[in-house]
Amino acid sequence: MKYYDKLIFELSRQGRVGYTLPRNNWEKSADEIPAMLCRSVEAELPQVSELDVVRHYTNLSNMNFGVDTGFYPLGSCTMKYNPKINEEIAAMACFRDIHPLQPDCSVQGVLEVYDGLCRSLEAITGMAKFTLNPFAGAHGELTGLMVIRRYHELRGDDKRTKVIVPDSAHGTNPASAAVCGLNVVEVKSTADGCIDIDALRPLLDDTVAGIMMTNPNTLGLFETRIREIADMVHACGGLLYYDGANFNPLLGKVRPGDMGFDVLHLNLHKTFSTPHGGGGPGSGPVGVAKHLANCLPDMRVEHGDDGMLHCVSHPDATGQISGFMGNFGVILRAYAYILMLGKENIKLAGRLATLNANYVKESLKDCYKLPIEKVCKHEFVFDGLADKSTGVTTLDVAKRLLDYGFHAPTIYFPLLFHQAIMIEPTETESKETIDAFIEVMQRIAGEAIEMPDELHTAPHTTPVRRLDETTAAKHPVITYAELRLCNQPT
Ligand SMILES: *Cc1c(COP(=O)(O)O)cnc(C)c1O
Repeated sequence: MKYYDKLIFELSRQGRVGYTLPRNNWEKSADEIPAMLCRSVEAELPQVSELDVVRHYTNLSNMNFGVDTGFYPLGSCTMKYNPKINEEIAAMACFRDIHPLQPDCSVQGVLEVYDGLCRSLEAITGMAKFTLNPFAGAHGELTGLMVIRRYHELRGDDKRTKVIVPDSAHGTNPASAAVCGLNVVEVKSTADGCIDIDALRPLLDDTVAGIMMTNPNTLGLFETRIREIADMVHACGGLLYYDGANFNPLLGKVRPGDMGFDVLHLNLHKTFSTPHGGGGPGSGPVGVAKHLANCLPDMRVEHGDDGMLHCVSHPDATGQISGFMGNFGVILRAYAYILMLGKENIKLAGRLATLNANYVKESLKDCYKLPIEKVCKHEFVFDGLADKSTGVTTLDVAKRLLDYGFHAPTIYFPLLFHQAIMIEPTETESKETIDAFIEVMQRIAGEAIEMPDELHTAPHTTPVRRLDETTAAKHPVITYAELRLCNQPT
C-alpha cells in the first residue's frame, strides 16, 4: 500500500464525475416507470473520476495474493497452479452458451466430455463407475455415504448406522456422516501417524456401514496396512470410503480400487487443476466399485441403442443430488488437464509432488521439529521450531513468511501436534522457488533466536498488519463506511 493511500482514503468529491450518460431524448419513458419504482432520493454513490476508479480497483487487485503472484506452500488442498489453457477451453462459446434443458441430441459433444472424464477417472482410480454430479468435496462425501446407505438398504441390512473416522481425518468427513444421519465413531492414530489397527478391531461389528479414510492421510503418510484394514472391514460387512480430495501424490501410481476401496470422491478443484480460491466453483465426482454401480445417483450419461449418449435414471439410484449434471465448467477443465498431460505425464505429477515435499522436509528438519521421521507423500507436518526457547510460535513463523512474500502454510492443523505447520509445495513449483522458500524458512528460524520480538509482531510489510483473528472472523469490517472509520489517519 502506498503511503498516500491512507491520506486520501476517501476518494469521493462532490460533483466529480467519471462518465455521463447521454441525455434522455424520450421524455415520455420516465412516465412509464411506475411511481413506486422511482427513486425519491439520489443514490448515494461515490463521486469519482474514471482514473480514481481505475487506480482503486488496480490497487486492490495488487493487494491480493494468489497462485499467479507467488508461492503457496498450502498445496493442492487450497490452490495449485492451473494451466491457462483450461480457462480458454472452458470459455469456448460451444460450451459456455449451452443450456441445461437442451435436448440430449443437441449436446452430444458435451455428454461426450462428461463420459470421457468418467472413463479417465475410472482408469486413474480403479473404480468401476463415476458420477460427476456433486458440486464439492463435501457434497461428494455426502453422496458417497448416501450410496453406501442405499447399498445396505437394498440388501435389507438396516442395522448399519455406524461410520468409523480416523482422528486425523479432514473435518468434513465426520460432518458429512452426521448430515447423512449416520453415527460417527472415531478411531485413534498410532504415534507414527497411521491408523491404530488394534483400536480399530473392537469397533468392527454388524452395525458398521463403513470407514472413511484418506491415503496418504492428512499427515502425508501412506497407510501401508491398507489391504489388511480393507479385509477386516469387509469381513464385518462394512464398506471402505476413500477421501481423494488431494489425490496428486497417487496419480498414475496407485489406485484406491486396487487397495480395496468401494467408494471414493475426488476434488476436481484441487487435484485436477480448477482454481477454487474464494470458495468455488467446485466438483466432487464420486466413483464406486462394480457392486455399488446401480446405487449411484441420477442422472447418468449412458450410451443408448440409437448410438447417442443420453441422460438416464436408474430404479436403484440414490435419488438426485444436484439440479442437473454438476459444474460443467469444472468438469471441462479437469478433462482438458488430464488429456493435456496424458497417461505418461500424469504419473510425473505424483512423483514430483512427492519429491518436492520430501526435499523441503529434509532441508528444514534441522530448524523445525519433525515429529514423524518417514518418507512422506505430497505433504508433511512440522511441530513448530526445533528451538522453541525464545517463545516464537508457529503463528509467528507463518506471519513472518508474509514479510518475505510467501503465503503462509496451513497451521495448527492437523490437531495431532500443538504447533503444527503443514507444508505442501505441489508438483508445479520450480527448484529455484522451492530453494528460495527453504532459505527463507531457515532465515526465520535464525531470527527466532536473534530477534524474537520482530517475529511476535510480524508481518511488517503487508497492507494490514497482524489481525486479531477471532475478531476478524466474527466481526469482519466489510462495509465502506466501517472501513472509512478504521482508516482515519492518526
Ligand atoms: C478440501 C477437502 C475436503 C472438502 O472438499 P470441499 O470441496 O472443500 O468441500 C475433504 N477432504 C479433504 C482431505 C480435503 O482436503
